[in-house]
Order: sequence, then structure tokens, then C-alpha cells
Amino acid sequence: MKQYDYLIVGSGLFGSVFAHEAKKRGKICLVIDKRNTTGGNIFCEKIHDINVHKYGAHIFHTSNKKIWDYVNNFVEFNKYINSPIANYKGELYNLPFNMNTFYQLWGTKTPLEAKEKISLQIEKSNIKEPKNLEEQAIKLVGEDIYFKLIKGYTEKQWGKKATELPPFIIKRLPVRFTFDNNYFNDKYQGIPIGGYNLLIDKLLEGIEVKLNINFFHNRNELEKIANKIVFTGMIDEFYEYKYGMLEYRSLKFENEVFDLENYQGNAVVNYTDYETPFTRIIEHKHFENNYSTKTIITREYPACWRKGDEPYYPINDDKNNSLYNKYKILADSETNVIFGGRLAQYKYYDMHNVIEEALNTVEKELSQI
Ligand code: FAD
Ligand code: UDP
Repeated sequence: MKQYDYLIVGSGLFGSVFAHEAKKRGKICLVIDKRNTTGGNIFCEKIHDINVHKYGAHIFHTSNKKIWDYVNNFVEFNKYINSPIANYKGELYNLPFNMNTFYQLWGTKTPLEAKEKISLQIEKSNIKEPKNLEEQAIKLVGEDIYFKLIKGYTEKQWGKKATELPPFIIKRLPVRFTFDNNYFNDKYQGIPIGGYNLLIDKLLEGIEVKLNINFFHNRNELEKIANKIVFTGMIDEFYEYKYGMLEYRSLKFENEVFDLENYQGNAVVNYTDYETPFTRIIEHKHFENNYSTKTIITREYPACWRKGDEPYYPINDDKNNSLYNKYKILADSETNVIFGGRLAQYKYYDMHNVIEEALNTVEKELSQI
């Protein structure tokens, strides 16, 4: 008899949802995390009574009612709608690409006028099947928007030419011919009232959690204490990089506190030129109607990833995807290890995707027993 049914490596959304659901089904879990906090990348730090999204701004959005109802069981959500502003060399534009953006760029006032402007640019580019992000972007919105609002941001964000990046990344952004600045097309959206930590605390209620424990520092011992492992860290690290290292993109965050009520008038302002070294400034209080007399901003700087840095984004180009597929073959043959989440599945997952994956995984796992 082992001490635990599941050792869950990582207390992010995947690990926490899995642990919660397994406990509900009578299983005994231990959750470990190498950080000194739970929640993975959704962890918020309270500074001057403002929830600071420590690992990047997180806005919950989904069209899946099951997932929306699931998270609402644990925490109430506010009605925050993400409507970022783009700052291109001092000019301001609404995002995502919509009638407001088109008016600001060209003075077009009707969908017909805007469509005509974009269609002319698309025709001129003569792109049939987009092979990379640049071609996909031009095929969606034409060259004007590509050069002012996409190219610079994208190339600094990913540290690669837009011609070397996969097309799917830009398809995350809506293009619409209405005056609607909602960044997402999803049915449901918001921020947990009181912050994301509440959600994680509720998920992990009654579950043993040990922080500051790196699985790889004590792998042999840890592998013995549970019948199965749920691993949510980097899959290539799990296999000691035997086929080579997957690439990630990292970030550096720079916080600043101001004795001001309002610094930029919006939660998210993107800097879309290449020369500004950060991609966006987040003003955290705007996520939650916080009336503090102070404000906190975070400048987000994209950074190269080297072993030991935080692996924020998988780089899902062909080269990395085929390397991942080699690791996935190993993962699929494991009988006692389950791999889940953004790092272990090497996918550009949003929160709702991770929750859905975790729920499906638990369902599959525990209906087999
Ligand atoms: P993580 O949150 O990364 O958790 C993994 C955990 O495992 C971490 O706590 C880590 O410390 C731990 N761990 C790793 N290796 C080990 C080890 N060896 N030993 C012990 N512990 C280990 N999604 C949205 O839906 N909306 C957004 O607005 C949004 N914004 C984002 C902004 C940024 C900058 C980033 C990077 C992501 C964003 N996401 C957003 C995505 C979201 O963060 C993820 O989908 C989700 O949090 C991933 O959960 P996870 O459990 O898979 O991984
Ligand atoms: N993007 C862009 N300009 C912007 C915002 C986004 O070109 O002002 C592109 C960029 O390539 C980015 C992708 O769209 O990586 C996806 O943006 P999203 O906001 O979804 O990125 P995330 O929040 O995951 O960093």
C-alpha cells in the first residue's frame, strides 16, 4: 500500500482541478509545487490591497457552459470585459480589430467601407494558403493593420520573424465589422471576485499541499509514495531531455507603484511597435473596480528562455511540435504517469482549456478503476 493514490506535481489549474476531482471520488492526493505559492501562473499577489497578476494578466473566458458553471461553483466572477488599447508610436487604437480600429486607421465609418479597404489590401498581397503568421495576418486584415498592430508586437513577443511563426497564433484574435472592443468572442468572461487565489484555495481545500518541492530534486523518493503521478511540469525535463530541449518563450515582469488613482485608464495597453522593449502594460486595479488611491502597473518584457527560466509559452512551430510528439509517444506508453496542462502537453492552452482537459482526464482515469 502506498501512502497516496496520486502525487500531483504542480499546483496550477490542471493539478488543482485534478486533485479536487480525485478527492471528491475518495482518492488521497499529495500536491507538490516547486514554487512557494499555489496556483501556478494564475497566482495573484496582494500589493496595496490590489490583486497583482504575478505571472501575467489573466482573464477568464470560455464558451463552454460546463466549464463556466464549474468555476462558478467555487467563486463568483465579475463582469470584466477585456478591451485592450494598442499604442503604436503614440497613436492609440482599439483592439481587437473592429470598426473602431478601422475608423481610427482609415476614417471608414461603415462595414462596407472597411471591408473594401481590407479586401483591396488582401487582394494586392495575393496570398492563397497562408504558410506563416505574417501571411495569415495579411490575409485576415491586410497590410496596414499588420504593419502597425501585429508585426512589431509579434516579433518581440516571440523573438522570431513573423514569417517563421505558425499561422494559428494570430487566429486567437477576433476580426469583426461591428463597433465592439471585446477581445474575446466567448459567451462567458470575467475575473474572480477577490482574485484567482480564491479559486485555487477552494479547489485545494482539504488536500495535502507541500510547497518548495521540486520533483526532480527528489524524484526517486517521490515516485515511491504514490500509485500514480500526475505531472504538469515540462515534459522534456521529465524525460531528461533525451531527444533534445523543447523551446519556450519567457517573460520578465517589472512592477511600479504610483501614488495615483489611475495610470493608463485601462487594464491592458499593448505597445505594438518593435522598438518599445515591452509588449504591454497591465494596470491591475482595472480588472476589479478597485478604488485604492494607489495603482500598480506591470511592464511585460518578452525574454529568451534558457534552462532554469520560467517557460511561459510553448513555441508550437513544426520543429518543436515534432519533438514534442516524440516525447508524447513515451508519455502515452506510461502506465503510472499522467501528463496534463500547458507544459506537459506543450500546448498554448488558455485556462478554460486546461480545466476541460483536467476534468476529462479525471473522468477517464477514475471511470477505469
Ligand atoms: P501552470 O500554471 O504553469 O502550473 C504548473 C505548476 O507546476 C507551476 O506552479 C510550477 O511551479 C509547477 N511545477 C513545474 N515543474 C515542477 C517540478 N519539477 N516540481 C514541482 N512543481 C513543478 N489563460 C487565459 O485563459 N486567459 C488569459 O488571459 C491568460 N493570460 C496568460 C498570460 C500569460 C503571460 C501566460 C503565461 C499565460 C496566460 N494564460 C491565460 C494561460 C494560463 O496561464 C494557463 O492556461 C494555465 O494557467 C495553465 O495551467 P497549468 O496547470 O497547465 O500550468
Ligand atoms: N498580437 C498582436 N498584436 C497585439 C496583440 C496580439 O500582434 O496587439 C498577436 C501576437 O502574435 C500574440 C498573438 O496575437 O502573440 C496572441 O495574442 P494574445 O493576446 O492572445 O496573447 P497572450 O495573451 O497569450 O500573450
